Amino acid sequence: MPTVIQVARLKERIRDIADFPKKGIVFKDITTLIKDAECLKLVCDLFAEEAAKFDVDVVIGVESRGFIFAPIVASCLGVGFVPVRKKGKLPHKIVSVSYNLEYGKDSLEVHKDAISKGDRVLVIDDVLATGGTSSAVARLVEKLGGKVEAFGFLIDLTFLKGRAKLKKYPVFSLIQY
Ligand code: AMP
Repeated sequence: MPTVIQVARLKERIRDIADFPKKGIVFKDITTLIKDAECLKLVCDLFAEEAAKFDVDVVIGVESRGFIFAPIVASCLGVGFVPVRKKGKLPHKIVSVSYNLEYGKDSLEVHKDAISKGDRVLVIDDVLATGGTSSAVARLVEKLGGKVEAFGFLIDLTFLKGRAKLKKYPVFSLIQY
């Protein structure tokens, strides 16, 4: 887990954008964090350290900011990366679930042949907000006979209580608000 000093360093680089993409949402902009070479390295190292506690066959990243970290984590663990994408983006046979966002409603899809029965999966995303997206990803994995070993987030917006939706699963986050 990050030290208090490391968390403070990372939080300094996360930019709050008020009323984006909708009025009332404070958007956590991580582009400023990942542009900083030292912070990017620190986040990748911290993610890898936490992820190594789980024995997994595959790492899922959730479109779109999950794609920034999940392939790095997969590579550190020596396993493959599977993208979960928004509706209509994947070219082959898919399974789909609908889900609620903090700001809207959408569908998530994964290739049918990307997860095999019995696969142990780590799911990585940038922000845990209401937990709607992550619980939809769990349903996708489980539809294909996979097992979610854990969820890992850069940021947990704890006041939105997303963890309550994921209480069946181990959850780790590097930074909490
Ligand atoms: P939720 O389904 O409510 O847990 O929302 C999680 C997804 O929405 C993540 O993929 C985030 O990228 C995005 N998200 C939700 N709220 C925020 C926020 N305040 N700042 C940045 N991203 C957010």
